Amino acid sequence: MNQIRFFVLLLVMSLFLIFSGQAFSEQLVVYSARNEQLIKPLFDAYTEKTGTRITYVTDKAGPLLQRLKAEGKNTRADLLITVDAGNLWHAAEQGVLQPVQSKTLETNIPDHLKDPDNRWFGLSLRARTIVYSTERVKPEELSTYAALGAPQWQERLLLRTSKKVYNQSLVAMLIAEYGEAKAEEIVRSWVANLAAAPFSNDTKTMEAILAGQGDAAIVNTYYFGRMLKKDPDLKLALFWPNQDSTGVHVNVSGAGVTKFAKNQEAAVKFLEWLSSEEAQNLFADANMEYPVNPKVEAHDYVKAWGEFKASEQNLANAGKLQEAAIKLMDRAGYR
Ligand code: FE
Repeated sequence: MNQIRFFVLLLVMSLFLIFSGQAFSEQLVVYSARNEQLIKPLFDAYTEKTGTRITYVTDKAGPLLQRLKAEGKNTRADLLITVDAGNLWHAAEQGVLQPVQSKTLETNIPDHLKDPDNRWFGLSLRARTIVYSTERVKPEELSTYAALGAPQWQERLLLRTSKKVYNQSLVAMLIAEYGEAKAEEIVRSWVANLAAAPFSNDTKTMEAILAGQGDAAIVNTYYFGRMLKKDPDLKLALFWPNQDSTGVHVNVSGAGVTKFAKNQEAAVKFLEWLSSEEAQNLFADANMEYPVNPKVEAHDYVKAWGEFKASEQNLANAGKLQEAAIKLMDRAGYR
């Protein structure tokens, strides 16, 4: 008899623990196109602070978007994290994200780094800027993105493939700034100056400069940072173009709450935390990027690359004009 009572009591206690556990600790499911190594420390820090349990799936941006679409309302994902405003814009257009009204996000994230309809928010900032050989180029020879098409750069310019969304966004922003005709003229002049066929990634592009295949290229700041970390005597430097005009082309990694999020409130709270002074450095430093929150300073080794004026074109243009950019690059012979 006593034994039965004991087991009933044990059963009641365990059920209580199970249900109270579910009620009191929030949970969150994240689909992330950023790799585990970059996001896990953030998730761990948030779980430690709030008790919110975070499970996640990592994959490339394309497959994650397809998966969200296929899962529809049955998706377990509450939040999508991906890189490039072009990808974020595309996800929003495909209807897998929902608008979020949040004073905190409005305050922490500048308008041009988020969706005007609040379906996605930039969380870290990278610049796509000029990198040059310190052995063969003087910074005075450089000025703007467009000037890389001048005759003095013939057989000296190197670019990454036009298939990469980073370059599609760059050209989309050129269209936004100068109009399609002028943007096409710029891209054509780059192609005419290429010293080699476009490379598959930014690192290979910079390695080609080091190997003497060309003298200047356009890359994302953090790839330069990674190379510099490995070799402090790297014979490359960054240049900030368009300082007297439109500013350096910047882009973001960011996130949006999924349309069918089961834990919508928890997802918004997590997004707000990611934009906070507390989390911004963690998020940016993980990939040697810049915080989007203007109250937060970049890490010293990022600041050491120099201050610059950034473009304040709304990044939604990177998405809106992506198709036009792809067609333009194709017409201009940029492969
Ligand atoms: Fe990248």
